[in-house]
Amino acid sequence: MKEMENYKRLILQDFSKNGLLAHSIENFIHRKSQADLAELIAESIQSKSILIAEAGTGIGKTFAYLLPALRSNQKILISTGSKALQDQLFNKDLPLILNALKKESLAYDKAIEIQNVVLLKGRSNYLCLEKLDQYMQSSNLIDKTFLSSIVQIKNWSISTSTGDISQCYDITEDNFIWSFLTSTNDNCLGASCPRYEDCFVNQIRKRALDANVVIVNHHLFFADISLKTNGFGKIIPDMDVLIFDEAHQVPDIACQYYGEQLSSKQLYSIADDLQLSYRTQLRDVKQLQTSSDYLLQTIKQLRLVLGDNSKGNFHIIKNHKEIKPLINKLLDALNFSKEVCSTISIRNELIESCYERLDKALNFLNKLNQTNMQGYSYWFEVNRSNFTFACTPLSVAPMINELVFKEKRCWIFTSATLTTNNSFQYFNNKIGLTLAKTAIFDSPFDYQNQSLLYVPRYLLAQNHSESAHQLVNILKPIIEMNRGRCFFLCTSHLMLKSLAVEFRKTINNFTLFVQGEMSKSKLLEKFIESGNGLLLATNSFWEGIDIKGDILSCVIIDKLPFQSPDDPILKAKIEDAMLRGLNAFEEIQIPEAIITLKQGVGRLIRDAQDHGVIIICDNRLVIKHYGSQFIKSLPSMTRTRDLHKVMKFLSEKNK
Ligand code: SF4
Repeated sequence: MKEMENYKRLILQDFSKNGLLAHSIENFIHRKSQADLAELIAESIQSKSILIAEAGTGIGKTFAYLLPALRSNQKILISTGSKALQDQLFNKDLPLILNALKKESLAYDKAIEIQNVVLLKGRSNYLCLEKLDQYMQSSNLIDKTFLSSIVQIKNWSISTSTGDISQCYDITEDNFIWSFLTSTNDNCLGASCPRYEDCFVNQIRKRALDANVVIVNHHLFFADISLKTNGFGKIIPDMDVLIFDEAHQVPDIACQYYGEQLSSKQLYSIADDLQLSYRTQLRDVKQLQTSSDYLLQTIKQLRLVLGDNSKGNFHIIKNHKEIKPLINKLLDALNFSKEVCSTISIRNELIESCYERLDKALNFLNKLNQTNMQGYSYWFEVNRSNFTFACTPLSVAPMINELVFKEKRCWIFTSATLTTNNSFQYFNNKIGLTLAKTAIFDSPFDYQNQSLLYVPRYLLAQNHSESAHQLVNILKPIIEMNRGRCFFLCTSHLMLKSLAVEFRKTINNFTLFVQGEMSKSKLLEKFIESGNGLLLATNSFWEGIDIKGDILSCVIIDKLPFQSPDDPILKAKIEDAMLRGLNAFEEIQIPEAIITLKQGVGRLIRDAQDHGVIIICDNRLVIKHYGSQFIKSLPSMTRTRDLHKVMKFLSEKNK
């Protein structure tokens, strides 16, 4: 009891005006809400309990969980929503706190255990030495540009101690070559790999097993959990405290890993490995080349008949007159390759792995073709070069509940966007933790003075062909007066394209940036550099972007972000809710849209000095009965429908 009191006292002292953070962070501002959150997290760590905490923007939730976690001297896992946040934690926030703790321990001669921290990424982030060896062996058969990159990577592989491909400065991380030189769960040879001892993935895993603090992302966490569920190895060691930042993403990401999928990328990788084995070690087995060619040709044909950029119900397309024969042909090609491998798998590890992957692909494709279990969505997705067939559970609540309650540990779920209409009910149901302790910590920002919410009048229906034209006419005066410095977040690619066309006709006083015209990081860099940018973007720009200051003082949202009802997973969820007698619109679509809207709105005010306008171009916010749920879920801002008030607000704030 006394120990608990001392620990909590120490944490509160850390967040006080004269505490550890005040001495370590320039311009540190003591915030009661941050200290309260840290205290609650400390209590959960001590009592090994579950806490679900919404921490509004600007509270400083990262430090609020890092300090109690590090001071607890327990084994900590931190999972983030993105690699970018993983990097920020590892390179910035954690070193800052660890240095502060180190200084404190030196100053007071205290024996504080300085933590051994490991940043763990998915295996596609590490060079696979075995694959590199195989390509080096077949160097006389590969094209010159490819070979020159392989040689550069070979040279780098000798000097790197981590094999982390983001550290190979000659070949950028997004270069397609890495897909040939990194491993997947499917094609890694594991303990039978000749390079197992030097393998970078294994080395980092071993370090993670010994670490006190491991930083992962939600994808890696659930990929690891699903591997364990299936009885294979584990990457993430058992930890005492598990903290999920950006936790609003957890249920949807978990769904992907508790389901199954088969992609053309996986199939291409099998075909490539068959060919590689033939070229390197099994020159006498000509059928390897034949089966690889047959598989490659079938994947390409299937990709073509599946059409362009679409997503839908697998059970609807599987009987399509052009698709059905190609799915059958794919089954035949997989069977043929499997047969070829079955006779020679003892001769080569790679062929043995191909055999297992072919078997798995066949089982999945047969299952997908023949079953339609309730509680699952069977869907397909096609983009420019790939297709995916998948089977996804509609809810992961029972799985996460079982995982969390398997043994008594501390689980913290935190994010700025967990509640809808001030209630955790939707998130808690989704994650299967309805009885967990919850807490809301409001943002310290003064939204009433720092921001204004504007809903334009007389808007056309969202699907009206002139909608983009009208939006540009209404909003152009604001954007021009604000000299750009504006994000326009769209709910569809169609709207994004239409707006880009309209803005290009009339551009004046600002620089236009459009998502897709360069990489995300480049776009953001250019937007900030320009000082007068208007950035048109969709999905990935709605969250995780932190631009402080005047450079971003207007965020426009084209409409309430309801997910398309054509999305096969949403469609299946709606049907499932209806079967259970629920109102799917109220129970699923509104809460989902509220969380997304909160994320989008959250891009504007990132600092106590920031100011700006949120413009939501959707009458439904005002005229529909559910509009008030959206309004109540957003920070409390002054609202207006008067364009002049917006102009006045901006001109005063921009002085
Ligand atoms: S163990 Fe797997 S990842 Fe490591 S070198 Fe071998 S095949 Fe590559």
